[in-house]
Amino acid sequence: MTDTQTLAYLVAERGRRPELDELIDLHIAVLQARSEVKVDSPQILEGQARERLEGGEPLLKIAELALDWAAFAELFQSICEAVARTAPACANDLLAVSNLASTPEAAARLARASLEERPGDPLVTFVLNNALHPFLAAWAQAYAQNAQEFFSDETWYRSFCPVCGGAPDLAVLQKASGGRRLVCSRCDFEWSFHRSLCAFCGAEGEQGYFPDGLGAYRLYACGKCRRYLKTIDLRELARGVDLPGERILTLGMDMAARAAGYLS
Ligand SMILES: [Zn+2]
Ligand SMILES: [Zn+2]
Repeated sequence: MTDTQTLAYLVAERGRRPELDELIDLHIAVLQARSEVKVDSPQILEGQARERLEGGEPLLKIAELALDWAAFAELFQSICEAVARTAPACANDLLAVSNLASTPEAAARLARASLEERPGDPLVTFVLNNALHPFLAAWAQAYAQNAQEFFSDETWYRSFCPVCGGAPDLAVLQKASGGRRLVCSRCDFEWSFHRSLCAFCGAEGEQGYFPDGLGAYRLYACGKCRRYLKTIDLRELARGVDLPGERILTLGMDMAARAAGYLS
């Protein structure tokens, strides 16, 4: 799914949970900023990609990450402005955040630090993830289109994204098989994973789930690592879904999970 498709989906579905409308409007403003960025389709080096994947490493290495840092820094600033417009109470904080990435060099340093998962301020992380998304998603799309010959979804089965190394923040149970696919929180790439294991720590038999009352939408939570995963059972939905859009429309589930003491 592209940001433009997700944007249209969100605009159409807004109002499904009226209590989330303000939050959804904020994401709509961020998606509008994201969808204005044009990213060239990256070239996948097949030999290198094959070697990394066979060794259990993701395709992208953070130290090597080469993207248009000037375009990234510009998007970072427009996202700060979009959020400040829709959530004026945060405007001062966003000014401080935008100052962190005022040059392409500073933006690149900040992005690399965040991708190496050094814990950071939630607002900075939010802006960074959104600013990185079009660039990482271009890799995920190029990879999804071109990697079939050398990447087998059936052999990866790891808890991190084969493209960017990110963690999942959403899962689906597939219509035909009921098999579980994870969705990357950074680039939206989807890959298969065991249904019986925790998608974060790999523990078996530790996943409890509580339906949130909407049938197809479930929250799995691990008793061992205390992390949770939103899951959509596509077998229970007649309509098609846009997964990046559903990630936003189900923010109420994140709130419920955090209130119950679970971590994203
Ligand atoms: Zn990814
Ligand atoms: Zn776990």
